[in-house]
Amino acid sequence: GAQVLDSAWLRRHPLPVHPEDTDKNSRGRVMLVGGSALVPGGLTLTATAAFRAGAGKVQIALPEPLAIPTGMAMPESGIFALPTDPDGEIADCSPITDKLAPCDCLALGPAVGTTGAGGVILDALLPHAGGAPVIIDAAAVCAGIDRQEAIAALPGGAILTPHVGEMALLTGLSAEEIETDRERVVLEQARRLRAVVLIKGATTVIASPDGELIVYGGGGVGLATGGSGDVLTGIIAGLCARGMPAWEATCWGVWLHGEAGRRLAERLGMMGFLARELPGEVPSLMRGI
Ligand code: AMP
Ligand code: MG
Repeated sequence: GAQVLDSAWLRRHPLPVHPEDTDKNSRGRVMLVGGSALVPGGLTLTATAAFRAGAGKVQIALPEPLAIPTGMAMPESGIFALPTDPDGEIADCSPITDKLAPCDCLALGPAVGTTGAGGVILDALLPHAGGAPVIIDAAAVCAGIDRQEAIAALPGGAILTPHVGEMALLTGLSAEEIETDRERVVLEQARRLRAVVLIKGATTVIASPDGELIVYGGGGVGLATGGSGDVLTGIIAGLCARGMPAWEATCWGVWLHGEAGRRLAERLGMMGFLARELPGEVPSLMRGI
């Protein structure tokens, strides 16, 4: 049976503690790769969330036309500009293949618009991930169906964060088939890809490669809003970079994201808060457990 992701679980899996003399590199370095002309601001949400979860350094690689505006919106981050295709999707990741070695976590795919661009990113960067855990989100999840061996072979493991539509493209199953048996589907994918796999929605189910299963049903309907998933990916990335193992970082990330939504709903109303407001709740939520 599935475990429940509650405060008792969190207390059994405490957050990493960093000594007072820790510098930003040992607090953890994240590399985010994604964005598109269609969703120019998504990675700013992901980067903000990674910092709010405690990462020391967050670098962003995204389509060249977005480089300067993103750097101005996100002055805490370093920026890498990537060549694009005529639709404004990432077409080439070679400028960053030699930048991944010092990274403690990669997050690939947030705000990417097409499965093709997701595939470009995976093909270029999975071979260079080294021992860092790789979070695979959005269009990069959809591209995963043709790259299962490369994902399963990642030395630092992967975390896949699809909603139902993306899970359908990852597996070739229909949305109905997935919804009728979400637990079995995530468990199968986690085992096959040797990765932590979740499926998002009003309830989120998370599976580990060795068959652990945990369910989170909190958060509330206000989280069904544009950019919400980009924030989740950033929180998980920040926790991974701080040294949390993939399974713990994913479970903590899902809980922090959901509780941030619950808090905003209490304060502002059930609906109408913005995804950009979620990350600001994370530091005090981490303190509270
Ligand atoms: P995305 O579709 O990638 O933007 O991700 C949406 C995020 O919001 C995921 O973390 C979902 O689990 C969460 N979410 C979506 N709909 C609901 C809902 N009705 N209740 C609670 N959480 C939700
Ligand atoms: Mg998403």
